[in-house]
Amino acid sequence: MEGTYLEVRLRKIAENASRIREACGRRGVDVLAVTKGFAAIPEIVRAIEEGGIRRFADSRLMNIKALRDQGFSNEITLLRIPMISLAAQTVRYADVSLNSEYAAMEALSEAARAAGKVHQVVMMVELGDLREGMLPLEAVYTCKKAAKLPGIRVVGVGTNMGCYGGILPTQDNLSVLRLVAQAVREETGLALPVVSGGGTSSLKLVYDGTMPEGINQLRIGEGLLLGTDTTRGDVIPWLEQNAFTLRAEIVEIKDKPSRPIGEIGRDAFGNIPEFADEGIMRRAIVAVGKQDVQPAEITPVDPGIRVLGASSDHTILNIGNSEQHYRVGDRISFRLSYAAMLTLCTSGYIAKKMVRE
Ligand SMILES: *Cc1c(COP(=O)(O)O)cnc(C)c1O
Repeated sequence: MEGTYLEVRLRKIAENASRIREACGRRGVDVLAVTKGFAAIPEIVRAIEEGGIRRFADSRLMNIKALRDQGFSNEITLLRIPMISLAAQTVRYADVSLNSEYAAMEALSEAARAAGKVHQVVMMVELGDLREGMLPLEAVYTCKKAAKLPGIRVVGVGTNMGCYGGILPTQDNLSVLRLVAQAVREETGLALPVVSGGGTSSLKLVYDGTMPEGINQLRIGEGLLLGTDTTRGDVIPWLEQNAFTLRAEIVEIKDKPSRPIGEIGRDAFGNIPEFADEGIMRRAIVAVGKQDVQPAEITPVDPGIRVLGASSDHTILNIGNSEQHYRVGDRISFRLSYAAMLTLCTSGYIAKKMVRE
């Protein structure tokens, strides 16, 4: 079934993978390709591999399991700190996990021993964004304890920025990560080969040459997929944008008033809507809705189209200023934010069309 579909241009993604790998490689920074933004769709994973990135990371164990079930054997890191109840599956499907709780590492240790495996852990350090991570001193102390657990190997320290608190990575805060790594090495004698300095928002420091010496890994999703850096509100000029396009089919076109007629109650989501009176308006409905994507997260490619709003299954557009002559059954194209890409990839109702060139 096609109807409304998500088009993915694999060449653009492979190209981005190659450029990111090269830019980071020149500075001694290894890249993990983050697959959670596209639900780890295998064709896209392969395109990234073609671009030369070999290591992958995802926050959802189910995505990682699906890749393993297809025979994918590259190294995969679990990004979301592990659930204790899923320790056995974590060890089974992921080679590495990011951690911030000693109790979880004990569970991983137990599970790895039972499976006869060695599971690698990266200790997350809190540097201000206030999502996951231990405070620096706690991280040093816990690495020392965790180093003694059988079945796991502490391979590095890492941090996360620009996710919850919107804190930007800088030379200053990433230097703290490097200091934590040094302290852990001194306290434990561990080699600690991995110092993982964040995601797409850290890419700028690599490109500018301001990344502190010793930060040797980044975990890149958004930049690779969309060529944008939301935390900085930027496009990344040396990457390709528009690898993902939503093509939504028109199911109605009519001239209607811009304000609903009658007494206004609440909309389908319980909000009281407000409307400006712009007179009679040429409107189109496309077959995609809030169950698949939030209307504020998609931007029509045609500059003459404006998204007015959506309910669960219908998105309503003002097409009155467009120079195109749309007809029912045509498709309208949209650019996507990270959130739009994420939910559209996850939606089982949206067909995915992979384009090779
Ligand atoms: C999602 C995620 C990333 C990737 O972030 P982008 O901004 O998409 O590059 C990196 N690290 C962790 C822990 C994540 O959860």
